[in-house]
Amino acid sequence: MKAAPDQRLDVLRGSAPRVHHNARTLAALENNPRCMLRAVLDASGSDKAAIAAHAGYPSPFGQSSFAIVRGNTFEAMVKANGCAELLRVLRETLQLTLPEVGYQDLNDVGGDGRPETRHARTAHLLTGAAQGRGSDTLYDHPMLRLTVGGHPVFLEPDLVAFRIGDRFHIVEIKSFPIVDGQADPAQVRAATTQACAYIIALRAMLAEADVGPEAVSDTIVLVAPKDFTNRPTGAFVDARKQVATLTRQLARIERIADLVDLLPEGLTFDLAADDTGRPRRPAQELAEALDQVPATYRPDCLNHCEMAFYCRSRARAESSLDVLGTEVREHLGGIDTATMALGLARGTLTPDDDQVEMAIALRHAARLRTELLESGDAR
Ligand code: SF4
Repeated sequence: MKAAPDQRLDVLRGSAPRVHHNARTLAALENNPRCMLRAVLDASGSDKAAIAAHAGYPSPFGQSSFAIVRGNTFEAMVKANGCAELLRVLRETLQLTLPEVGYQDLNDVGGDGRPETRHARTAHLLTGAAQGRGSDTLYDHPMLRLTVGGHPVFLEPDLVAFRIGDRFHIVEIKSFPIVDGQADPAQVRAATTQACAYIIALRAMLAEADVGPEAVSDTIVLVAPKDFTNRPTGAFVDARKQVATLTRQLARIERIADLVDLLPEGLTFDLAADDTGRPRRPAQELAEALDQVPATYRPDCLNHCEMAFYCRSRARAESSLDVLGTEVREHLGGIDTATMALGLARGTLTPDDDQVEMAIALRHAARLRTELLESGDAR
């Protein structure tokens, strides 16, 4: 008889303590939703950074201490004096009408900073506001909670939720600059995805009091330094698509039993650490265990997943087209590996019915390349 899904996940993680999600790791789920390896590692609470490092592929993840200090300083400045600078941005830059502002600091409850206490207070205040009780507008550091794969995850947003009309909006305060109204798209996307986790968690909290999802806006407010100064400015960011993708990915983790059933019984990513925490499991054996779970590597994994160097190496060894990115992979539909593409281009491999047209195109491209090389025009 097969073990229950929770037991299987515990076996996958092995003796290591469960790694809990946070907004950053939840946001990363939205990036490569097809990847089974990531889904299984996350659902089992495995320590991806430790696993990748022991398999021989340490990841350079984590913000620099300089970036963290800069981020904290900017956030403190925006929130100083009851969020005075934030209010200026909301009113002047974003032209929002916030006539009276009630401010609630939810960093602790009468000196009690435990997540459970703060979450209960957050739920009481925000649910009350959604139901027409209370007149607060700004909620600083609300403590949200989301159930991920059957386990509660507290999300401590570095944010303010504000209420205007009948809707809550999530504010993300980031220290990367908005220059001439434009910010780095990758950083905006990362910030937006993180805010999506808060939107989903806030909706889940309100749903417990029968408040519908429309009470939380899909549009987030991004507050960041204007140009290269320290003066904050703001922008609205439409997060609908990312909220939908992350919601689907969270539902996928809830259905993890279907994925786990596809894995060999007894498969584990246990590092077999000794009393001092030093991994004892042979690295090769760990890599072989990882190799048994399908991974859909693509180049942007390098920006958001601790397993990226391991997966890139594996994709290269398998001659997978994934290393060349989604666009190339889609162009070469029906062809699984670079070896196969080269074989079809050189005519050493006979195409099957679905590959005939692509094989003609590849042979044509190969001929052109050869002609160019022979004429000496290729650079
Ligand atoms: S790096 Fe590997 S495990 Fe992570 S998302 Fe990409 S393919 Fe999946």
